[in-house]
Amino acid sequence: MIVNMSATATKEQIEHVMERIRECGFEPHLIQGAERTVVGVVGKNRGRRSEVESLRVAPGVSDVIIISQPFTLVSRELRPQGSVVNVKGVKFGGPDLVVIAGPCSVESREQLMETARGVKAAGAHILRGGAFKPRTSPYDFQGLGLEGLKILKEASEETGLPIVTEVMGVEDLDAVVEYADMMQVGARNMQNYPLLRRLATVPRPVLLKRGPSATIKEWLLAAEYLLSGGNPNVVLCERGIKTFDSELRNTLDIAGVALAKELCHLPVVVDPSHATGRRSLIPAASRAAVAVGADGIIVEVHPCPERALSDGPQSLDIAAFTAMMKGLESAIALAVAGR
Ligand code: PEP
Ligand code: MN
Repeated sequence: MIVNMSATATKEQIEHVMERIRECGFEPHLIQGAERTVVGVVGKNRGRRSEVESLRVAPGVSDVIIISQPFTLVSRELRPQGSVVNVKGVKFGGPDLVVIAGPCSVESREQLMETARGVKAAGAHILRGGAFKPRTSPYDFQGLGLEGLKILKEASEETGLPIVTEVMGVEDLDAVVEYADMMQVGARNMQNYPLLRRLATVPRPVLLKRGPSATIKEWLLAAEYLLSGGNPNVVLCERGIKTFDSELRNTLDIAGVALAKELCHLPVVVDPSHATGRRSLIPAASRAAVAVGADGIIVEVHPCPERALSDGPQSLDIAAFTAMMKGLESAIALAVAGR
């Protein structure tokens, strides 16, 4: 940050600003130009940035300019090579695209088993399925809860696919940790700070979905909660944001994926299902994700989408998922060649 002093700032006012910068845990660097003085605020991480920002209203200050990003531990500057997150041997952030697939919700043992076998045969690496479901309406199917977790575990044991499932609140956390290989933080919970603080302390990787109205900075700061609390195993997920358009359920922020990867060292995956809400667009959105450099995709697959208890219109059936996986091969080859 830089504190710009006004042209009429007195020596005392400049000294006061420097003293406050020290009190906030930073080092002030005085740069005296011919016309005006600026004070550079340096020193890493642990200073109290918001208090320095308040110097905007201190006497003799004309402005405080923020130049560095507010996040540190997730910043690519810290790890230019990017980090790899390992979920039971499946590596996000390595050379290969990770494919997560499965139903929006676990509905029954039969439904999940059939999906798990189908997506495994088509080449998926991780099985998804919600046991605790965040539904917009309280009258919609809310998930099977603990029973759903048990079904997921059984499918994982049979197919060898690790599982990712959503944890909706701190009250469910212990149960989900017991069954899941990766903990999903849903879009609605991206800024649930008590939940993020608890997840920072569990020995499981986290899939952190971007809030539908969250800026990239807010998303990366949510990840910063996890890293600063002690959990370095975080994968970001872009799942579409709210815009003025109502034709699509959400708008896939494809450039945001590239920007997140530029600013931050964590792997980033794309959820083309929630990002579009339309089954027909999922293969194209997945190819776009691959082309822009995403580390993986998470796709909703249901054996019979017309009967799905949640998100049927955006779910592929097993045959369509299998066809999409084949179609992705050339997109992957092109993306790897272009790196
Ligand atoms: C989901 O993955 O089924 C889900 C509810 O996603 P999101 O949190 O992105 O809406
Ligand atoms: Mn869903």
